[in-house]
Amino acid sequence: MTEQTLVLIKPDGLKKSLTGNILTRLSETKLEIVAVKITRVSRELAEEHYQQMKEKPFFKELIGYIRGELHQRHKVMAMVYWGEGAIAKVRQLTGSTNPEEADPVSIRGAYGRITTKGIYENVIHTSTDKKEAEREIKLWFSPDEIIVKNMYPIKIVEESKAKKRIWA
Ligand code: GDP
Ligand code: MG
Repeated sequence: MTEQTLVLIKPDGLKKSLTGNILTRLSETKLEIVAVKITRVSRELAEEHYQQMKEKPFFKELIGYIRGELHQRHKVMAMVYWGEGAIAKVRQLTGSTNPEEADPVSIRGAYGRITTKGIYENVIHTSTDKKEAEREIKLWFSPDEIIVKNMYPIKIVEESKAKKRIWA
């Protein structure tokens, strides 16, 4: 089944200069990258992204981590991978949540660590199922940022009179 999944290279992945290595690993899947950007992570975006972790004792640290507060990198690289079995293929290469338990040849097994404070620095986020992928892709990208048209149903709305920045 052709599907799509969200990949985030987290601030530790950026700080450790792992972008190239991670993209090389993900290219093994032969999936297509259909959207990509470097973006800052507002508190609202971080809390929405990790909404299901709200009750966890490490929630505050998790929000700080994804916002780059631990790594002086206040951004993530966000991508959408698209193709046959995308979610499982990417998840397989990602490895387990706990980097010490992750398969050593997986991305998290190879590059992740647990800090002395107990934070799982696992270098990437990837969606776990179709429903999560849809929620996350819609959260991180607008329809026009994705090269595959109408990946999910869209609607057209009038532009407000809000100001925006354009090249001078
Ligand atoms: P994922 O889908 O494999 O990323 O795992 P989850 O959705 O369960 O958790 C989201 C993120 O929360 C993980 O990637 C970790 O960064 C963090 N996390 C999850 N479980 C733990 C934990 O037990 N301890 C700590 N410190 N962080 C965790
Ligand atoms: Mg998850």
